[in-house]
Amino acid sequence: MSVDQQNHVFTGYKNPFGADIKLDPKRCARGLMDNYKSYQCRRKGSIEEDGHIWCKTHAPSNIKAKREKQEAQWNHEWALRKSKHSAETAMLEIAETTILHFRQQATFDQVEQAVIKYERLKTQYDNMKRD
Ligand SMILES: [Zn+2]
Repeated sequence: MSVDQQNHVFTGYKNPFGADIKLDPKRCARGLMDNYKSYQCRRKGSIEEDGHIWCKTHAPSNIKAKREKQEAQWNHEWALRKSKHSAETAMLEIAETTILHFRQQATFDQVEQAVIKYERLKTQYDNMKRD
């Protein structure tokens, strides 16, 4: 294993000719893989963290921030889909309650409550879409 697991630090290796390929301390410490062969990131290191220098892309804090941003986006998209589904379900409840009302199996108040519920959920969804 020539790439450290935690931050994927390039740890060097011996090439087929017996030469030691070592970590270049001036370059980004990130170890990368290409066709099962590991190599050190070719970019210059500019950010010092966790005992190594990194390029902007591979700085552990930047990787973490990027992942958190992505997760927040996924969570938002998931919540948006759930909210849309709730509003659509409430719309169907209005239709069902209205049909029951015409059959005199539901009161006008029940229809009104279904409309109020739908409007509340639709407003929530519209507000979420704007975020
Ligand atoms: Zn890098």
